[in-house]
Amino acid sequence: MEKISFVVPAYNEELNIPILYSKIVEEMQKFHNNWEIIFINDGSQDRTLAVLQKYAQEDKRIKWIDLSRNFGHQAALTAGLDMASGDAIISMDCDMQDPPEVIGQMIEEWRKGYKIVYARRKNRKDSFLKKYTAIWYYKILYRFSDIEIPRNVADFRLIDREVLEILKNMQEKARYLRGMVAWTGYSHTFIDFERPDRLYGVSGYSWKKSWHLAMDGIINFSLLPVKIAFWAGIFVNLFAFLLLVFLVLSSLLTQQVYSANQWTLLLILFMLGLQFFMFWFLGEYISRIYDQSKDRPLYIIRHKNFDL
Ligand code: UDP
Ligand code: MG
Repeated sequence: MEKISFVVPAYNEELNIPILYSKIVEEMQKFHNNWEIIFINDGSQDRTLAVLQKYAQEDKRIKWIDLSRNFGHQAALTAGLDMASGDAIISMDCDMQDPPEVIGQMIEEWRKGYKIVYARRKNRKDSFLKKYTAIWYYKILYRFSDIEIPRNVADFRLIDREVLEILKNMQEKARYLRGMVAWTGYSHTFIDFERPDRLYGVSGYSWKKSWHLAMDGIINFSLLPVKIAFWAGIFVNLFAFLLLVFLVLSSLLTQQVYSANQWTLLLILFMLGLQFFMFWFLGEYISRIYDQSKDRPLYIIRHKNFDL
């Protein structure tokens, strides 16, 4: 029988764990008993670990990993994924913002043959500022990333074991898991859901952590910062060229005499443009070195009709 693994990072979630657990038990009754939940205690300061230990004693399907300190959501998720033994792996948040009622639909879509099932939120119940920075961020990421990273999708998803094995081979340190999963290119589908408010406790995502995650997304999956240098070079050189034409024409036509300073300004502008181009070239080299050091597989074979 197929086994389902749940991977749940937990940072100060002592009050949410019992509820999430009972909801998962309830949902999985529709299927079977062959499942596990792997909780990752990401350096919580509250009684998260004690609660996990208590539940694990009563139910053998509950497993926990205790990280030595707070390593952050993506690292905690990675730790859990590395330990998951299921045929399908569902990652979700601990705070009931990823509603367990969606699990059943995810498993059904997976059984139809989809290797990735994303839960996509229809709404965002965040503060005004968080909501709009997120909307703009995803617009930019979507527009400029080399691969198609689905919008309004966080880390609530099901992946097939096949996808997990590929992920495990992607050992890059700056992790943006939703991008990495999309990068594998396996067949995927979406389930839309309304995202409720966090049940108990406060968000563990400070602005600093959100910023780091956002940067990992942009830097790992787009050449946007490098391209900015290219366009800045074009812009400055074009401006310098127009200025040159203007100075030459007006010197010739109106006998206006321009000072050495004014001609020097032109020279400086050209040099500035040239420097932007050099930054762009450097960026292209660095991005290639970066690709090389990530050491992702060059390609992933889905099927082939022969064996070696
Ligand atoms: N989390 C974590 N480490 C952290 C921050 C968050 O493991 O440093 C977990 C948290 O317990 C939750 C999930 O990651 O299960 C999402 O975090 P949170 O709900 O705080 O983020 P938000 O929903 O506000 O973006
Ligand atoms: Mg949350």
